[in-house]
Amino acid sequence: MMAAAAPPLAARLLAGDRRALAQAITLAESTRSEDRAAAEALIAALLPRTGGAIRIGISGPPGVGKSTLIERFGLHLVAVGHRIAVLAVDPSSKVSGGSILGDKTRMAELAARGEAFIRPSPAGTTLGGVARRTREALLLCEAAGFDIVVVETVGVGQSEAAVADMTDLLILLVQPGGGDDLQGIKRGIVELADLLVVTKADGDLAAAAGRAAADYRNALHQLHGAAAEGGWLPPVLQSSGLTGQGVPEIWDAIQRFRDTAEASGRLARRRADQALAWLREELSQGLLDWLAADAGLAARLAEAEAAVGAGSALPPAAARRLLAALRGG
Ligand code: GDP
Repeated sequence: MMAAAAPPLAARLLAGDRRALAQAITLAESTRSEDRAAAEALIAALLPRTGGAIRIGISGPPGVGKSTLIERFGLHLVAVGHRIAVLAVDPSSKVSGGSILGDKTRMAELAARGEAFIRPSPAGTTLGGVARRTREALLLCEAAGFDIVVVETVGVGQSEAAVADMTDLLILLVQPGGGDDLQGIKRGIVELADLLVVTKADGDLAAAAGRAAADYRNALHQLHGAAAEGGWLPPVLQSSGLTGQGVPEIWDAIQRFRDTAEASGRLARRRADQALAWLREELSQGLLDWLAADAGLAARLAEAEAAVGAGSALPPAAARRLLAALRGG
């Protein structure tokens, strides 16, 4: 007897099948042009079923307690009836060939739950490449019925901005004793944060965590002042991934943020801005790819790069000449 044909990927994914979701993300991560076309067709077909999740960015330096806290947070959400997907954006994978976030054994307890889905970062690509794939993976997770999607990244500056560009809110994790004020982290990164969480607020570190939270609260007050965007002054919470203390409060704050941002129209604006920025990124990447694919233009690009690198041409003038060549000039 012949086995019945497997239902198409889209149907299995929409039914919440985690293996189908993993397969679809692999397709979206592929650089083969026929896979690219298939992935885009798949995502286009699923698009009406996307957008339903709260998209949460979580960032912090290595060792701050990201995976411990995300696992605890995920288990809490699953216990109250949610489905959570965790995607990683790992800016280290290109540079080192290794990965800070890609380790599959992380969050083993959460990964074992049928209501959770954990995906390590695609390796060996630029941050821009990872960003596109993560955006697509996020949409696929939504179509598969995950109502909470966490995009996790190691804080290195650029990666926080990339994650803030694809999520509804960014949570910044900081350690107790990481500095008496905002000196420990770059000001520009703190400005991106919608919520600050002091981790490891337990045992010997509890008192230091309390002091750190007070200091950060003060500093954020000065930073945002009365002009907090959309009436939202980023709260500073304390939590422990070890004991679970403070985890329900993080979820409460996220829901409060979502409600506030929905009511003010800020959430819809943020998502629309993100989609436009994505379009522009794809356009500029597409233009560069087009230049590189044409032998004549690629040679002129190489010449321009050499001249700019040597300081004998100004970038705006060199770019203008290339654009003229692109138009057939
Ligand atoms: P990540 O690199 O940011 O993902 O950090 P991990 O979650 O892997 O944690 C780094 C180290 O901090 C590990 O040794 C953990 O055991 C420890 N750690 C993580 N969360 C907590 C916490 O809530 N309390 C305490 N005391 N230690 C923690």
